Amino acid sequence: MGADSKLLALCSYETTKLVRIHSVRLGTLKWTLNATVLLFICLLLLWNRKYQQFDQVVSSVTAKVKGVALMQLPGQGAVIWDEADYTGSSQDKNSFFVITNVIVTKNQKQGRCPEHPSSGRLCRRHEDCERGAWDPHSHGIQTGSCVKFDALTRTCEVAAWCPIEVKKKPPRPALLASAEKFTVLIKNNIRFPAFNFIRRNILPNMTESYLRRCQRAHDSLCPIFMLGDIVGRAGENFSTMAVEGGVIGIQIKWDCNLDRLTRHCLPAYSFRRLDQKESNKTLYPGFNFRFAKYNTVDGVEERTLYKAFGIRFDILVFGQAGKFSFIQLIIYIGSTLSYYALTTVLMDWLIGTSCYAAEEGQNYSERKVESVPDKKECILCVSYVDEDDVRLVKMSHKKRLQDVKTISVQPRQENIGHMTATLCLPLDPLTSLTAFSKARSRPPSWCKCGGCSASPLPPEELCCRRSSEGACVAASPLFEKLSLYRPLLEALLLYQDPLTRMPPGAAALRRCAYRQYVAWRLGVPPADTHPAIPRCCVTRIREAFPSVDGRYGGLALPSEAEM
Ligand code: ZN
Ligand code: ZN
Repeated sequence: MGADSKLLALCSYETTKLVRIHSVRLGTLKWTLNATVLLFICLLLLWNRKYQQFDQVVSSVTAKVKGVALMQLPGQGAVIWDEADYTGSSQDKNSFFVITNVIVTKNQKQGRCPEHPSSGRLCRRHEDCERGAWDPHSHGIQTGSCVKFDALTRTCEVAAWCPIEVKKKPPRPALLASAEKFTVLIKNNIRFPAFNFIRRNILPNMTESYLRRCQRAHDSLCPIFMLGDIVGRAGENFSTMAVEGGVIGIQIKWDCNLDRLTRHCLPAYSFRRLDQKESNKTLYPGFNFRFAKYNTVDGVEERTLYKAFGIRFDILVFGQAGKFSFIQLIIYIGSTLSYYALTTVLMDWLIGTSCYAAEEGQNYSERKVESVPDKKECILCVSYVDEDDVRLVKMSHKKRLQDVKTISVQPRQENIGHMTATLCLPLDPLTSLTAFSKARSRPPSWCKCGGCSASPLPPEELCCRRSSEGACVAASPLFEKLSLYRPLLEALLLYQDPLTRMPPGAAALRRCAYRQYVAWRLGVPPADTHPAIPRCCVTRIREAFPSVDGRYGGLALPSEAEM
């Protein structure tokens, strides 16, 4: 190939060939499907705001609890608790705590006292106790003596804050159940860094008088919540939860649309319990911790120990803001184009199956799909003189043709035209024209007729007989008449092309001789197969019409090729 033609081959464009079917039914169906897809794409675009670029929220939260409660402390009487008492010692990030129940152990001093039987060791003698022993459940360090706990039990003495906290179970009902009425003001500042947009949950139009009056029940934007209301909306009962405590999540969701025309950016509050709910089924239920208040009486340090049960409120802020972005719109449109392929797939399936008119469907399919056999797989048609049928085998470059496995056996289809023409020939008594020299050297192992010679190419190694040893077809008188008789071959060549040069060259005679063999022995070879000619016949024809330079092109396979 020249450089010019290579360049020309590069400068080309291959396009897909299409088949247009003129059909009202199919056309209507196509447009209906396409309209459905378009509708779906548009709905998704508007509903999910696919034309926007999104950014996640960054936020900070503070909370302020207000309320006063009257509490009946056992052994102490009525006590007033305000927010300094019940919110615990520290404020965590994004959460606040409210004490709802408490176990108080008053006037503890450093000293020695009997350990509580549930957390210490029961004993009878001093030897039962071990000086200096300690374990994670005990309140102090053992002194090594065994002392009376009450009238019936003796326990090991410990050095600890005495007296030791005795009560284990929280009081029922909760001492601070009235915390239900407390209110909390949640302040939430948010920012969307990508759009440099800042907002608070206390909106600009909210005045101080509004905040004093507003109630969650009527106004979903009010940032002041009643604790009982929060717990109720989380699906819990406040007085039940107050006994052992728990964790409640306050979720603030910001779903903002920052486009000028459809601007909308308001918080939405929701509530749910975050810890395990079934207090009687779980180990270590609820939420509690201990703290102490210290004072000095007559130079001796004393403390009051509180085991506080309460509800922790975790404020979780999440959300996103979207703003129109041309790039996002383009990306979305690009990603939806493939949906239109659904129409093609569905319609092709409809045409391919019998759902559509079967006959027309077949017609369309044939027009649409062009079947081309795989050229690489060469199927050869072989005929043996000791068998009536023809065999189809796959050509192999490694295995000799005589040994290749048969794909299928088919009845021989007689070439009627050839047979008729042959019978019209004036046949002399069938005598040998040329002496057929049997193989000069010993025939190869695969040869059953004794006329074949070895070949370097395995696809050429085919004998005229399949299994039984016997006479060779190339030695038969009819083979000589049909394939080697020069006047007949010359007449055939002239019949095909009356102006052909006479006398014909050896190559043309060989080609004609092969064709004669194929028409005689194989008849009409099945479609898409190549006839194969046995080695003995090829050798005999080549001997009869030898090439001048002694070279023969190609394999003795396709009848058209030069052999
Ligand atoms: Zn042979
Ligand atoms: Zn033979």
